[in-house]
Amino acid sequence: MRRDRAHPPIRHYIRAVTSPSPLPDPRVRPTVTPGSGGLVDRHGRTATDLRVSLTDRCNLRCTYCMPPEGLQWLPKVEQLTDDEVVRLVRIGVEHLGIREVRFTGGEPLLRPGLPGIVAATTALRPRPEVSLTTNAIGLSRMAPALAAAGLDRINVSLDTLDRERFKQITHRDRLPDVLAGMAAARDAGLTPVKVNAVLMRGINEDDAVPLLEYCLEHGYELRFIEQMPLDAHHAWTRGEMVTAEDILARLTATHTLTPDVEERGAAPAERWLVDDTGLTVGVIASVTRSFCGACDRTRLTADGQIRNCLFAREESDLRTALRSGADDAELADRWRIATLSKLPGHGIDDPSFLQPSRPMSAIGG
Ligand code: SAM
Ligand code: SF4
Repeated sequence: MRRDRAHPPIRHYIRAVTSPSPLPDPRVRPTVTPGSGGLVDRHGRTATDLRVSLTDRCNLRCTYCMPPEGLQWLPKVEQLTDDEVVRLVRIGVEHLGIREVRFTGGEPLLRPGLPGIVAATTALRPRPEVSLTTNAIGLSRMAPALAAAGLDRINVSLDTLDRERFKQITHRDRLPDVLAGMAAARDAGLTPVKVNAVLMRGINEDDAVPLLEYCLEHGYELRFIEQMPLDAHHAWTRGEMVTAEDILARLTATHTLTPDVEERGAAPAERWLVDDTGLTVGVIASVTRSFCGACDRTRLTADGQIRNCLFAREESDLRTALRSGADDAELADRWRIATLSKLPGHGIDDPSFLQPSRPMSAIGG
């Protein structure tokens, strides 16, 4: 395990988290029975939902995620190859009880081997549910191949329907590509198409209702995500954040929202039925109504590090072990041990909270 330093400069975060890791912490070893069981932490939670980041690169520069000039990308040699990704996902599914796999990034559509990775994942048994989180640029071309590879569904990020504002938020003039990509995903059967929106004070708060109406009209499921302190440039402040309460106040000014009675389980979104449409809108209140107690997620970064939480300040290096010849059983044990130390909550409200040095784009949201 490694510990991140407090607020290292952006340019140095990659080096801080990719140096070879020592063997797992011997203090936690005795509490894992080698070779058995799933990904259970000390607080009784079991991780069955794996988020896999396929690249830290991106073709947008969303202001809450990346600085306009981009970041120092991972060197290719440090990234897992397609075969290495598939091997670790297979170990997760066959040995560790992973039931859902979500590919993300950075922008996962930039990964040339994506359809092959998806096909190899959907061929695993027991077959996991496989989804993708994307900014949808290039999706209008890729959607049929992804559907043919067995992909089940898509989450698309979209924060505004105004072309100028989209340019302001992402530093790229690509709104038409995103809208076309969403339609192509729906037409290819990658449904439900879920739309993730982040609202920022004074920038796109008034997009809440237009986004909802656009999604209702096109049959997409909209979810607002509270902005989290995971931006590369550490500009997030609690006071500036648009809260779940703010979002609901805007939506209920024009629409009737009724709490969805369907069991929420470990799903991060609280959902409401909208008017009498039968469709829902969700709010992922990661900051103000944290759902850490029900968390069932584990994360694999593009350079082969296991993170047991988005906000973890420690990672476990599977890549070095994998490239040194570790067998499946050893890799599974390392993953189990990495899970044990998952903290009970993200601690954003704690005065001692420190933002992880990896930004969201390099963790995989
Ligand atoms: N590039 C893809 C995309 O944008 O969908 C996948 C990676 S992106 C990091 C995954 C999700 O994280 C997106 O829905 C994005 O809006 C969200 N995200 C990024 N930075 C965030 C932040 N600081 N707070 C909340 N959500 C964030
Ligand atoms: Fe790229 Fe997604 Fe981050 Fe936007 S949120 S900069 S699309 S990784």
